Amino acid sequence: MTANPPNLRPDLANATVREDARAGQPKIGMVSLGCPKALVDSERILTRLRAEGYAISPDYAGAEAVIVNTCGFLDSAKAESLDAIGEALNENGRVIVTGCLGAEEDYIRGTHPSVLAVTGPHQYEQVLDAVHTAVPPAPDPFIDLLPATGVSLTPRHYSYLKISEGCNHKCKFCIIPDMRGKLASRPAHAILREAEKLVDAGVRELLVISQDTSAYGLDRRYDENPWKDRSVRSHITDLTRELGQLGAWVRLHYVYPYPHVRELIPLMADAENGVLPYLDIPFQHAHPDVLKRMARPAAGSKTLEEIEAWRAICPDITLRSTFIVGYPGETEAEFQTLLDWLDEAQLDRVGCFQYENVDGARSNALPDHVPADIKQDRWNRFMEKAQTISAAKLAAKVGHRMQVLVDDVDGEAATCRTISDAPEIDGNLFIDEDFEDLKPGDLVEVIVDEAGEYDLWGKRAR
Ligand code: SF4
Repeated sequence: MTANPPNLRPDLANATVREDARAGQPKIGMVSLGCPKALVDSERILTRLRAEGYAISPDYAGAEAVIVNTCGFLDSAKAESLDAIGEALNENGRVIVTGCLGAEEDYIRGTHPSVLAVTGPHQYEQVLDAVHTAVPPAPDPFIDLLPATGVSLTPRHYSYLKISEGCNHKCKFCIIPDMRGKLASRPAHAILREAEKLVDAGVRELLVISQDTSAYGLDRRYDENPWKDRSVRSHITDLTRELGQLGAWVRLHYVYPYPHVRELIPLMADAENGVLPYLDIPFQHAHPDVLKRMARPAAGSKTLEEIEAWRAICPDITLRSTFIVGYPGETEAEFQTLLDWLDEAQLDRVGCFQYENVDGARSNALPDHVPADIKQDRWNRFMEKAQTISAAKLAAKVGHRMQVLVDDVDGEAATCRTISDAPEIDGNLFIDEDFEDLKPGDLVEVIVDEAGEYDLWGKRAR
């Protein structure tokens, strides 16, 4: 269970397993697959289980049942989820399935009829019911106090913060709105309260996630929420401004390039505010016809002009994005437009994946699917260009002084991140001398002395 294979696809974070066992308590194992949003769901389930007196087992052998939180975004992710369920059944035998693929119970039971229960995404109550049935709780009011921050699957110094669930769009390649429903935003004060607790407990970086971060609050009609001595609108600009006051780094993910995103950039340029000059914007393509065939939100927006406007306000902004190559009907000329766009946009970080059919996605029925060898060729050409841009951008940082956050320290180096690097998906900065006194969560100043294609190396600035 601790050895889920690393998955390099840009749409999937690595599988994660939490180790947290206590003597005498019923023990549950958890395998968490899929994106950071699924990881947050896993954390919520584990938090509830801990609150009810369960312990978390780090291995199959010690667990009395195992929860597998699945991903169903792409067919390859579904296959990975089925494999994980099979492994848990072989190793433990008592398996509860939840998450995105849980919406397709027949599909799961077709391969694994012996799973104990199947629940869909965000069905926390049903998951807990299934756990209660499989392994009755043994509560102890003296030891079952909920940790102030809940149970976190991420290292203690950074934490994902989910601000909304679901999505109002209907991108043709995506079945998330069918699985997760329409946009449902959390009240601003609930998010701020959770964020403040996390920071009080030592979290140094908050990673804001949702399916569509810029749409936050639309479903609530941007209502006002009482917070401290003031009220805060449930709007991404207001929420981000408040989060930036909490004393931690704040990093925004899955921001679509709507016009109001420009309001966020001054917050990123303000050194007094914790909002990092970093935007994760899933552009997916650059040719307007491909974007229309994808039915992307903001398909008609002039993204290069937007990027220029952002950089005019905040020259050091880091832009990360993901792209799909080989989308049905993509011509060589359309692909070339994407490459030319990338040349102009000079994004700092990019992920790219080859189009795949997903069961239930409307793009499956589009004409002119691109043959596999052409998809591969376009992916290679795209990645080559992206790598060249990334290497040049990183080389320009050599000699610069910057603050980094330490993620991990072992016998050889401290693995850190700059403000331009999100955990799990971007690069690292390594300190391989004079690092022995560092520990995860430390913020230190470094001078960059070497750059690779994706990573940097630096020395402590004393
Ligand atoms: S914006 Fe598009 S890709 Fe993103 S979750 Fe919504 S439908 Fe899916």
